[in-house]
Amino acid sequence: MKDEIQEKLTELAYKRTTPFCYGCYVKAPKGVCPHCHSDDLMRHLEGVGVEWGTDWVIKHILQEKLTAIDTDEAFEDSIRGCYPEETVIGWLKLDTLEILKSQDPISWRIAKDEYIDSLEQDGEIISLDGGSNYYWKHDLESLLE
Ligand SMILES: [Zn+2]
Repeated sequence: MKDEIQEKLTELAYKRTTPFCYGCYVKAPKGVCPHCHSDDLMRHLEGVGVEWGTDWVIKHILQEKLTAIDTDEAFEDSIRGCYPEETVIGWLKLDTLEILKSQDPISWRIAKDEYIDSLEQDGEIISLDGGSNYYWKHDLESLLE
């Protein structure tokens, strides 16, 4: 699934950019530089820049079109769905999430990491940069439709 999305994003990155000869500093839409005839070309993304490869183009497209998942927020939502909103301790009614977070921040973080891992393993979320940013699979799919 991830490979397929990566592949389609690469395709999209090629479509959105023009080959570019850096040596002559000209666009080479035919895939060969009109001046020096080199086919060793960078990619030019209008209004953004020129660089080798397509990873940076993909990154730009994702940033422009999608919002990376706020993993803290996603985890909190999931926990809110699992436990009552308030927990009674003695005569206090307290926010369950706040208690969990403040009483044991380490287990909170571990549980969050496990939650994100499980989403990734189930293919619901995908990272294309080694875990710095995650996107929902359905968001990526609708972007590529
Ligand atoms: Zn050239």
